[in-house]
Amino acid sequence: MGVMPAWTARLALHALAATAGAVIVGFVGGWGEVRGWVMASVFLLVYLLVALGRLLRERDRLADWAMKPSADDVPDVGGRWGDIYARLYRLIREQSRSRAGLSHALWRFRQAGEAMPDGVLVLDAGNRIEWMNPVAEEHFGLGIKRDREQALTNLVRHPSLAAYLAAPTYAEPLLLRGETDRILSIQLVPYGDNEKLLLSRDVTRWERLEAVRRDFIANVSHELRTPLTVMKGFLETLTDADRMDEKVYRRSLALMTDQAERMQRLVEDLLMLSRLEDSRSLLREEPLDIPALLAAIVQEAQSISQGQHRLTTDFAPVWLLASREEVRSAFTNLVTNAVRYTPPGGEIAVTWALEDGDPVMRVQDNGEGIAPEHIPRLTERFYRVDRGRSRASGGTGLGLAIVKHVLQRHQGRLVIESEVGRGSTFSCKFPSARRLPARTEAADVTPIRAA
Ligand code: ADP
Repeated sequence: MGVMPAWTARLALHALAATAGAVIVGFVGGWGEVRGWVMASVFLLVYLLVALGRLLRERDRLADWAMKPSADDVPDVGGRWGDIYARLYRLIREQSRSRAGLSHALWRFRQAGEAMPDGVLVLDAGNRIEWMNPVAEEHFGLGIKRDREQALTNLVRHPSLAAYLAAPTYAEPLLLRGETDRILSIQLVPYGDNEKLLLSRDVTRWERLEAVRRDFIANVSHELRTPLTVMKGFLETLTDADRMDEKVYRRSLALMTDQAERMQRLVEDLLMLSRLEDSRSLLREEPLDIPALLAAIVQEAQSISQGQHRLTTDFAPVWLLASREEVRSAFTNLVTNAVRYTPPGGEIAVTWALEDGDPVMRVQDNGEGIAPEHIPRLTERFYRVDRGRSRASGGTGLGLAIVKHVLQRHQGRLVIESEVGRGSTFSCKFPSARRLPARTEAADVTPIRAA
């Protein structure tokens, strides 16, 4: 036997109260008389109607409240009905609190998605767009308001994208080249019920750097292979020959030395470039006596020219706060280029002057000149107008790249002016802040520098 439920006890209590009331009323009306029976019956009827009325009233109140349940106007009643309302009130409050928590979490999630530097696109099982962040809109030229629920492949018509979406796995990202120069890296991440997250990243810059790197390695390998092949050929000839003419022997050695020197120049230029490009390498500045430095460089150039060119100079008594090694390398490259690319009998003028307060070193030749389409590319590594001509005169193809980097590190710039058949002018312009007055005693002058 179980414990009697509360409602049965209450019903029994009501039955007891009603019976007791009826008995009392019956007595008052007269025991055993008709009046007594009628009064007892009326009492019972009224009792029942009152109970039923209360039940109906509370039912309607609950029904009304349930139409628009709100925690703010919970009916204020006592007893068991009050318990019901209190419980419902608590349920509603918990529900609305967890709904607010959920929508806040969703909002934060979206904020995070929108703040992502990469494009994020949410696709449903049919590859239709459910959501995307502004970066994805920009990457694919879409708009979330306009394109929601559209199939992505209808909007972005790219055969490789359709194939990628249909692929069984998405382990590898897809490189997407659009009509513009932009290159996107696409990665699909499946989740949930056949839904997908599509991540897009702009890798244009990275891909370009990668292409430059590949070209550079190919160029270096090629540049090194040529002298090596020549040297190996000579070595094989020397090894195979039983007896060799003394003259041929000496000539072979001289040619091999040429090739070895060429490789050495190339390696030295490469090392110089890598030092210049290393952002961590500090500029070792010192006051430089440029007129003296240029005089030495011009003298070297004269020995390269072997008297075949007329070299003139005009140096202002101005010093420069700069790196000796770097400036020497840049100026030497420009002066020897002028000798190398100017036919015998040509004239070369090397000047050092102030122009609007800025120190400028200029090398002017009346040599072969350069066609305008080549000029913007001359400072690229290994760029040559005439490969054979550059090689024949011992060029590495790195000289002007070195000049450009040196000037950049000194906040200066290289200006190239040229006309085919008339000659070229290369100007190194330095900022006035690097200018120093000429001095005889290096110790008694402090550098002038702009604040
Ligand atoms: P290289 O070792 O080939 O001389 P540079 O970087 O010094 O390499 O020069 C790049 C190219 O610029 C050269 O191959 C040449 O075609 C051109 N060039 C440089 N200086 C001159 C000049 N003074 N006159 C004509 N062409 C020049």
